[in-house]
Amino acid sequence: MDKIIVVGSGFSGSILARKIAEELDLEVLILEKRSHIGGNMYDEYDERGILVQVYGPHFLNTNNFAVIKFLQQYGELFPHNTKLLSFIDGKYVRLPFNFTTVQQLVGAEQAESLLAKLRQEFYGRDRVPVLELVEHQDNDISAYGRLLFEKAYRTYTSKMWGIEPEQIDKSVLDRVPMAMSYDERYLNKDFQYLPVLGFTKLFDNMLKHHNIQVQLNVDALAHLRLDEQVGKVYYDGQPVECLIYTGAIDELFGLKYGALPYRSLDIRYEYSDKESVLPSEIISYPQAAGYTRSTEYRKIMYDDSKVNGSVVATEYPLQYDSQAKVGNIPYYPVLTEASQQVYQKYLVEVQKYNNLFLCGRLAEFKYYNMDVCIEHALSYFENVKSYLERIK
Ligand SMILES: Cc1cc2nc3c(=O)[nH]c(=O)nc-3n(C[C@H](O)[C@H](O)[C@H](O)COP(=O)(O)OP(=O)(O)OC[C@H]3O[C@@H](n4cnc5c(N)ncnc54)[C@H](O)[C@@H]3O)c2cc1C
Repeated sequence: MDKIIVVGSGFSGSILARKIAEELDLEVLILEKRSHIGGNMYDEYDERGILVQVYGPHFLNTNNFAVIKFLQQYGELFPHNTKLLSFIDGKYVRLPFNFTTVQQLVGAEQAESLLAKLRQEFYGRDRVPVLELVEHQDNDISAYGRLLFEKAYRTYTSKMWGIEPEQIDKSVLDRVPMAMSYDERYLNKDFQYLPVLGFTKLFDNMLKHHNIQVQLNVDALAHLRLDEQVGKVYYDGQPVECLIYTGAIDELFGLKYGALPYRSLDIRYEYSDKESVLPSEIISYPQAAGYTRSTEYRKIMYDDSKVNGSVVATEYPLQYDSQAKVGNIPYYPVLTEASQQVYQKYLVEVQKYNNLFLCGRLAEFKYYNMDVCIEHALSYFENVKSYLERIK
């Protein structure tokens, strides 16, 4: 029997499955190789009652209210402005760097004239990428940009990505801004939220539909066959009406053009009987050896009144290796010129199959945040819909 199959139950796969099930009233089978739904957004309560985001901290930030409205159908959200500190030269400074950081890093006297220049040069701008400061024609601004870059970004970036900042795509470095004010929020988006009952519950509700069936612990690649001659994808030898794949694109094609690079994380937990351990929910450590940041999950819970003690999760980035014991989950695509070239070769392969659709962070080898991932899946659904309507 022809089937509609979705590989992966992260935001991309779950949204597409829900839209197909609900709007097109068609049956969908989701195959997920992990033992749970939600992909990297998965969270669970630990034995102390703390809601831990197992694959690292995730915060929903967007200027698009449609994204919030869409998610509110599946769970209640509460406003949460993420706040970060960075531990530099033995001091905690605000992240993103803001006007207070200027005073902390260059001293009050020098800060006065530098702040005047920053106000004038970036008038009307809320956030400015640190690289733009580095490249600025004014010597004082560019010297301050270099100070930030050397103290915070060079080491953080090389730990995070395993390569020097010069090799990484500019779009990734542009994600690191300085706030042109005393704003302490990590991001300046209009809507900043977290789900009251956590992300997993939200996915649970999204996938609760009579047309959706979810199979966990199934590696779809062991069942799929791509027939280049006829341009079709088969599952267990049977033709598939439509296959939506949200896993890693290189793995789908048996790494035939080589493995695309991803970074993974080794996340280590430290438990404490104290109610509070860190001075902020997230601390970034640009100068520390091996690790990049720590998160104290109790600080981001909607209700921690029944929690005992606290837990701090510290991230140690490492190269992704599907066969390794630690580091076998592809977290972040490493965007460089060389990896983009390899990705383009895989993209040509995709176009040979007319019942194959690729969507998501791994499938499209893009650094999507969840808001963009949600917007993209919602609009990508229109492609799938027109294909299914055409062949029916
Ligand atoms: C550490 C970290 C922190 C982040 N923080 C934020 C944040 O604060 N804010 C924000 O907006 N975004 C954040 N993001 C980005 C966010 O996680 C992604 O945008 C989103 O999870 C992408 O969803 P996806 O469905 O495309 O991919 P994924 O969540 O990776 O889902 C892909 C799914 O496919 C499954 N799969 C893969 N291959 C197979 C196979 N062969 N068979 C069966 N199943 C398979 C995987 O197990 C996985 O469940 C963060 C990402 C990371 C890694």
